[in-house]
This record gives sequence, C-alpha cells and structure tokens, in this order.
Amino acid sequence: MDIAPALDERTSPLIDPFGRSVSYLRVSVTDRCDFRCVYCMSEHMTFLPKQDLLTLEELDRLCSAFVRRGVRKLRITGGEPLVRKNVMWLFRALSRHLDEGTLDELTLTTNGSQLAKYASDLKDCGVERINLSMDTLDPQKFKAITRWGDLTNVLGGLEAAERAGLKVKINAVALKGVNEHEIDDLIRFAHGRGADLTLIETMPLGDIEGDRTDQYLPLSLVRARLLDRWTLEDIPYRTGGPARYVRIKETGGRLGFITPLTHNFCESCNRVRLTCTGTLYMCLGQDDAADLRAPLRASKDDSVLMEAIDAAIARKPKGHDFIIDRATRKPAVARHMSVTGG
Ligand code: SAM
Ligand code: SF4
Repeated sequence: MDIAPALDERTSPLIDPFGRSVSYLRVSVTDRCDFRCVYCMSEHMTFLPKQDLLTLEELDRLCSAFVRRGVRKLRITGGEPLVRKNVMWLFRALSRHLDEGTLDELTLTTNGSQLAKYASDLKDCGVERINLSMDTLDPQKFKAITRWGDLTNVLGGLEAAERAGLKVKINAVALKGVNEHEIDDLIRFAHGRGADLTLIETMPLGDIEGDRTDQYLPLSLVRARLLDRWTLEDIPYRTGGPARYVRIKETGGRLGFITPLTHNFCESCNRVRLTCTGTLYMCLGQDDAADLRAPLRASKDDSVLMEAIDAAIARKPKGHDFIIDRATRKPAVARHMSVTGG
C-alpha cells in the first residue's frame, strides 16, 4: 500500500543540501516604488509590465504552500510593498496562518511613505514588528538619497506605526560621505524612542547610475569609530535575520550590523526570496532561480508546485561571494534589490 502523501499535501520541512532548514520566506509583492534611493535604483527604471505580476490570490497560494512546508516567518517587501494595489487583502489573507498557529510572524519592510495610512490595518492583520528604512534625519539629505522621498511624511508614518502599537526597527544603509557622521544621531533617535537600529552595508545589486565603490562604507570601520563614544556589548540576540547585534550601554538600545561584504553570514541562512512574478531566489547573492509561476498555474491543486519547491530547495547554494568589482565597477548580481526585496 502506498502511504506517501499526495504531493500537494506534503508538509515535510524544507531542508537544503547543507542541512539548513528553510523557515523564512521574503516576498517582494511589487518591483515598483515611490522612492528612487540612489543605492537601490536608477532614476529611470523600467518596471515589469503589470500583467507579469502574480495576482494577490496567487501570492497568497504560494506563501501558504511555503507555510505548509514549515516556513514560520513571512516578510512582505518590494519595491515598496505598500504601493501595491490592495496589498492589505494579502496581509489579511495571510494572517489566517497566524490565527491557526502555523506561522510565527508576518512582517514587512517599508520605506514608510504609506505607513500613516496603513499602520493600524497592519496591526489588525497581526503584524507586530516592522522594519522601516530611514538613512538620515536630515530632510535635504533624505531627499538626496531617496530622490523622491519626503522625510516629514516618513516621520509621520513612524509615529502612526508607534501609535498603532507596532514595534519598529529602523534600517539605515551606511553610505560613505553621506550619513557616515550621522550614525550617533541615528542611534540617539532610534534608541530614544525604544526602536532598534540596524546598519546595512551597500550590496552590489543592479546597475544604479552611480559608483558603488564611492558609496561603500565598511561597517567594521563604523563600528571601530563608534567605540570612541559608545560602549558596545556583544549580545546573542537574533531576529532570524543576518544581523549581528550589540547593546549600547549608554542608551540600553540594540544596534545591529548587516555586513554581507565584510562578514559572511551564509552558514546560518534559513531563507529564500520570492519575487512578484513567482521567481524563487535561493540566495540573495546568486543568479540561480526557480520559476514557481508556471508550476503554480499548471494545476489547481499544489502537487506540481510542491515538486518545484522541493527541486528549488535542493539547489540552494552554500553561500554568496559578493564583491564590489573595482576593475569593471559592475554589480556582482545584475538584478536590483527591489526585485528580490531586502
Ligand atoms: N522599499 C522598502 C524599503 O526601502 O524599506 C522595502 C524594499 S528595500 C529593497 C529593502 C531594504 O534594502 C531597505 O532597507 C534598503 O535600504 C535596502 N537596500 C536597497 N538596496 C540596497 C543595496 N544595494 N545594498 C544594501 N541595502 C540595500
Ligand atoms: Fe524603494 Fe526601498 Fe529601493 Fe528605496 S530602498 S528605492 S524605498 S525599494
């Protein structure tokens, strides 16, 4: 007697060839954005035609398939996730997994431009924590970095999130000559309102019209400079992401470092990334990808899809080898961060 479960009923956890279990899915729900951050996009972007996008129902089906296979954390990202039309429908749909106890966390990464509008809806959908990207507290610099963004609006979004009871983590990309002397202010700002701050190194993803070797500021240098003014205490705190945290004794707050270039964080990688067209990237720093849209659309049940997910996870690479190539000045990976999400 055959007692193997039908493919679409598979519930076995996703384990990659290196024994890492995949429990975290990041989903980019749109490649579009209302900002044009200099390290992320060029000013004139060609976005995907709308008809190439998965529908929200398809995104829900895909995410739910991953939840059935043991994914416990879903991060909705982009592009700017909150500019996707009707995106709250997706949050509401996915929140059923929180209610059922099959998902631990539903969260998002946002530039904050639409937060004032959506913060309380997000909270209603079971979102507890969000990542808000904000690289500077200076309105002019903010405009220069984001090209199209408005700091006052984002600060309004941050306040709305706090009022709604969302726990906010602030992400700032460390940029040479731009915000490198503002890190102390960002620490005081974030910790003063009970938020963690995470610093990110620029990653060589996608052509951006600028020169990344000019922007790149190693966090090892930032950290060394911080030691002149702050006491950094190593702590084991982890959020399931790649950040390494310290506690700043003077503020009591946490400071995270995401250092893809100076520190290889691949050994404990538990995540895969899904684009808004249903392409699954098994590693942020590699080009290999699996198409899940065709298997998703191939049948109404999830049997073909489950097979495709298994085949993709079996190809998850050991790690990436990002470099910012000084000779060619070409990105290590051609796609932009807004395609796979941060
Ligand atoms: N639009 C949302 C936002 O900005 O938070 C979500 C998507 S964005 C791609 C996610 C994160 O990636 C942001 O914190 C952003 O600063 C960061 N990011 C974008 N391009 C990057 C790059 N080339 N290197 C490092 N971080 C990058
Ligand atoms: Fe948009 Fe986020 Fe990229 Fe900035 S970092 S351009 S806000 S997707």
